Amino acid sequence: MILKNVMNDLYARDTSAKIRAVKRSSFQAGKYVGCYAPIGYLKSPDDKHILIPDPATAPLVRRIFDMRCQGLSYRKIATTLNEEKVSTPRDLYYLQKGMVNPRQDGGYWQAQTVKAILRNEVYIGHTVQNKTGNISYKVHKQVGKPEAEWIRVEGTHEPLISMEVWELVRTIEQQNARSRTQANGETALFAGLLYCMDCGSTMRHHGDYHKCKDGTPVRSTYESYLCNRYCCGGKDICTAHTMNQKVLIQVVLTDIRMKAKQARNDPSGLIEQIQTQRRASSAEQMKQTRLLLTAIEKRLAKLSRLTQAIYEDKVMGRVCVQLMNRYEAERADKLEQRAHLSGELEAYQQETDDVQQWMKLIREYAKLEELDRPTLLRLIKRIEVGEKKVEDGCTVRDIKIHYNFVGYIEA
Ligand SMILES: [Zn+2]
Repeated sequence: MILKNVMNDLYARDTSAKIRAVKRSSFQAGKYVGCYAPIGYLKSPDDKHILIPDPATAPLVRRIFDMRCQGLSYRKIATTLNEEKVSTPRDLYYLQKGMVNPRQDGGYWQAQTVKAILRNEVYIGHTVQNKTGNISYKVHKQVGKPEAEWIRVEGTHEPLISMEVWELVRTIEQQNARSRTQANGETALFAGLLYCMDCGSTMRHHGDYHKCKDGTPVRSTYESYLCNRYCCGGKDICTAHTMNQKVLIQVVLTDIRMKAKQARNDPSGLIEQIQTQRRASSAEQMKQTRLLLTAIEKRLAKLSRLTQAIYEDKVMGRVCVQLMNRYEAERADKLEQRAHLSGELEAYQQETDDVQQWMKLIREYAKLEELDRPTLLRLIKRIEVGEKKVEDGCTVRDIKIHYNFVGYIEA
C-alpha cells in the first residue's frame, strides 16, 4: 500500500516534469500557450499558438495607451472607462464565449487592470511567458516567478502600438515615480525634470492654493520650483534657485522652436554640431576606421588560408612551426584590433542613429505654442537650473536643457 503510494507519487512527479518541459519548449519557441488571448488579441484560427489583433478590442488597447500618453493616471483611465460603461477584459472573455461570468466579478475597470495592460509587452509584439508557476506538482497554487525565469521572445506577432508610444509610457512611469502628485491629483508640469545646477539635487514644485469664500481650493497662477536641498537644509547648504514656471515655459518653448527650425533649415549643420560636441572623432575619422577594419578582415582571411596551407602540406618542419607561431600571434593581434575598432564604430553608429531619431522628432515642433507634460517628456530628459546672478548690471541665469537622445546642445 505504501509502496503503491510512492509509485503514484513518482508517476505524478514524472508527468508533471514532462508537462513542464513541453510548456517550457513552447515558451522558448515564442508560442502563445495561455488559456485565452490578452485583450486586444485573438488566437489565430489557423494556429491557436499565434496571436492576431482583435478588430473589436484592439482600438480600446490603443486608446488606453493614448490616454496614458496624455498624462492620465491609471485610476483616471479606469474611471473614464467605467463612466463610458466599457466592458472589462474578463467580461469580454465571457461575452465572446457566450457565457455568463460565473464569479459575477470583473464588472468594472480598476487601476490595476489598466496598469497591467500598459506594462504588457504583448502589445509591442513580444511574448513573455513563464511568469507564474505552481509551487510544486502537489500544490497547484499559482505564484509569480522571478523576472530572471521569464521567457521572452521578441517579434512573435503583430504589435498593437508603436515602440515610440511604449517608450513614452515607460518614461511617464519613471518620471511619475520620482515626483509627487499634488493635492489636486495632477502632476506638476516640470515634476522630476528639473535639477539644481549647483548642488545637483532635484527641484521641488511650489503651487499656492487659495481658499475661496465657499472653501473650494483655487490654484494660484504663480507656480515655481526651488532647489530641494535648500528647502530641506536652508541657505547654508544651497541657495533657493527659485524658478518661475511661466518664465521657464517660455524659455523651453523658445529653445524647442529654435532647435526645430534649425533641424528643418540646416539639418546637416546641426548634426555636425551635435556630433562634434558629443565626441572627439568625426565622420572623417570613422571613414578611416572603416577602411582599417576592411584591411584587417582581409589580412585575417589571408592568415587563415596560409595556416590551412601549412596543415595541408603536412610538412610540419621546424620552419613551419616558427611560421605557424608567427601567423598565430599576428592573428591574435588582429582579432584584438578588430574588436576594438568595431566597438568604436558601433558606438559611433549608435550616436548617429540617436541624432537622426532626435532630428526627426524635433522637426515637428517648429510651431509649438503650448507645453504639456507628454510633449515635455517626449522631448526633454532633464533641465538644469542655475542661480540668478548679476552681470554688467543685468540679471542672468543659466538654464541647460538636455534633450532625449542627444543631451545638451550648446547654442
Ligand atoms: Zn541646490
